[in-house]
Amino acid sequence: MVFRQLGRTGQQIPAIGQGTWRMGERRTEDRQAIEALRLGIELGMTLIDTAEMYASGRAEELVAQAVAGVREKVFLVTKVLPDHASYEGVLQAARDSLRRLRTEWIDLYLLHWPSDRYPLSETMRAMAQLVRDGLVRYVGVSNFSAAQVDEARQLLGEVPLVCNQVFYWLGQRAAELRLLPQCEKEGITLMAYSPLGGGRFVRPGTRRAQVLERVARRVGATPHQVALAWLLHRSPAVVTIPKAVRPEHVRQNARAADLALSPQDLQELDQAFPVPATDEPLPVL
Ligand code: NAP
Repeated sequence: MVFRQLGRTGQQIPAIGQGTWRMGERRTEDRQAIEALRLGIELGMTLIDTAEMYASGRAEELVAQAVAGVREKVFLVTKVLPDHASYEGVLQAARDSLRRLRTEWIDLYLLHWPSDRYPLSETMRAMAQLVRDGLVRYVGVSNFSAAQVDEARQLLGEVPLVCNQVFYWLGQRAAELRLLPQCEKEGITLMAYSPLGGGRFVRPGTRRAQVLERVARRVGATPHQVALAWLLHRSPAVVTIPKAVRPEHVRQNARAADLALSPQDLQELDQAFPVPATDEPLPVL
């Protein structure tokens, strides 16, 4: 596994971690999800991203089972819902996540998306308090615009904002217009979510698919692996969190971190999957 620095913290995190959205929604699939996460940990994908929202807390409970016995090796990311973004609400949500995750600390705690109900100042005051209390090691945000990140950073004061988790993949490059340059300049990790299009990958038979398949053949990988490797080639500020329950997918994703794309590969992908011309707000999945 390739490791990257989280923000400017000195903390090393795997460049490819594991997502958990939709895990825990069907009890019959719990075992498969736990085993997928365990396999991923064994293969070096020791960053796990979850959220209180996922399966109404059940995803966090599955994560607890997956990391039992190896908690120290794992970097746990979870998120507070904007509806809980009041000062007391954040503190309570963090305690609830800690209980479900059966852990004494959250490695990285994110506000899932901006709240239109509670002032950001309140949320960030609570985030900073959680760090001071030792319940959370690092804090960040998700689905924030560059201006919102600036505001959150100022409100956090001494506590660094280390991560903005946003929708970013080969098929959706709007994050490159403002967010990625901001992350690079300010020493913030851009955590790319839905790096395989959130299950809607490149449509087979299209020109884009052909380009991707050509590059994949050349480097001896699958198109999905190329999509993950491409993200890591874009910037050292990027890490990503694909979700996979099928063991062959987990294995492929872990190996994608080691894939080397040539300047020609990158140029061909760049042409087939251009950055959008206008800076519209990023979609939230
Ligand atoms: P994703 O990772 O882009 O795609 C997941 C889909 O791709 C699943 O159907 C999975 O299949 C399949 N897949 C995984 N690896 C594959 C491979 N090597 N080859 C072929 N198919 C593969 O989608 P996502 O779950 O939306 O995003 C990833 C994570 O980001 C989430 O789980 C969540 O933790 C986070 N996220 C955060 C936000 C936010 O607002 N902050 C929003 C969305 C997602 P199988 O599962 O069947 O293996």
